[in-house]
This record gives sequence, C-alpha cells and structure tokens, in this order.
Amino acid sequence: MRMKDDYMQNGQLKAGYNVQVATEGQFTLAYGVFPNPTDMKTLIPFLDQIEKQYFDLPKYIVADAGYGSEQNYDDILTKRTRTPLITYNYYIDEQKRKFKNAPFKISNWVNDAERDKYTCPNEKQLTFQYNIVRTDKSGFKRQFKIYECEDCTGCPLRDLCTKAREGTNRKLMINEKWEQQKEYVRAKLSEEKTGAIYRKRKIDVEPVFGFLKANLGFMQFSIRGKSKVDTILVSH
Ligand code: SF4
Repeated sequence: MRMKDDYMQNGQLKAGYNVQVATEGQFTLAYGVFPNPTDMKTLIPFLDQIEKQYFDLPKYIVADAGYGSEQNYDDILTKRTRTPLITYNYYIDEQKRKFKNAPFKISNWVNDAERDKYTCPNEKQLTFQYNIVRTDKSGFKRQFKIYECEDCTGCPLRDLCTKAREGTNRKLMINEKWEQQKEYVRAKLSEEKTGAIYRKRKIDVEPVFGFLKANLGFMQFSIRGKSKVDTILVSH
C-alpha cells in the first residue's frame, strides 16, 4: 500500500492494509481488508463485500467525513437505495459563523437559479458558459457547469477573489449534483431521528479500534498477504 504517512514523508510503498469494520453497539458485524490508503475508495467495495458475505445493508449507512464523496453518495442512494448519513470535508467548517460570513466563499454568493447566474462581491454577474465532464481513475464521471464573470477588469477585490492572471475574468466550476447531495446530507443530519443516529457513530465504531489497540495491544500485522491478514483478523 502507498502509505499516507510514514517517517520519510514521501508516500512510500510498504506492506500494509487498510482495515474497514462495520459495527453496531460496539460489536464488529463485518470487516474487510483493502490496499487503498484512503477510506473514500474502500466504501463501495466494502459495501459490496458486506452484501455478498455478511448481511443485507441497513436502511442508514453511517460513516465519517473521510467517506463523503459524490460517487459514494450516488452509490448508496441510487444503486443500494439506502440513506447515507455521511458527512464530507468542510461539513463542520460550514456550520461556523466565520465560513457563513466569508465573502469569497461561492456558497455565500447570490445565486439566481432562474437566470442561472451568480453575483460576486463586486456586484458583477457570473453567467453560465458551458458544461465539462471529468472522469476519475475508476471511470466515475462528474459534471461541472462553468460560469464566467462579465468583467473583472480593474476590480479592487481581485487579489482576494482569484489567482487568475490580469486580463482574464473569474470562472466558477459548479458541480450541481454534489451541491444537491451535500444539501441532502445536511438536511438528514439536522433531522432529529437521523441526526441522533449519526451522532452515535463515534461511540459505536471508535471504541472497537480502541479495544483492539489499547486492550489487545494490536497495533500492526506481523504477517504479509491478504489471506493471512484475514485469518489473523478472524482470530481477534
Ligand atoms: S475578481 Fe471578478 S468575480 Fe471576483 S469580485 Fe472582482 S469582479 Fe467579481
């Protein structure tokens, strides 16, 4: 696995595994061993594995911000018809007053959905220009709408707003689907029932890793090979 963090700080390739667990009431119901250093890419294969080897997925899939991505939300909502109670990067920051009052955060710009345009802090209009599609390594496609400011010439706020070179106008890349998904998640987490389910996450799954590490002293694998690692995990 290419390590996220190691003493050389250069993402070395080493023998290692990313262990995922699914828990309820601090009991491990399923586990999986993956070669990906980030959790984001392990969620879909782990859900596949749970459905194949363990049990039907519950109505709510709960996970922390490391798992919140367009692809993961799409998979859970569309393919599995379940509800993701999964935060995303900046979810916590978005709740803070500093974020809500930041004038150059696009989410704080006035959006006229009917005319499909934004208004910037210099009161200029950014109108829709064209769509682009980005395909990631797994083949997942994300669609962005590109907006461009009518005229950034001589804007006194330019340095605060964009790094684009002088003579060019500020452009925005907006992924509407991702914005809708985040809106959906925010709404779910603010509901009493689903918010309470999400808040249990920490006291449900984290103690399982705490028990493994602090009580059983299980800090690293002493064997190599996925099948051997699987066997060791079963015995714990
Ligand atoms: S740089 Fe352009 S988009 Fe940014 S505030 Fe100025 S006019 Fe508006």
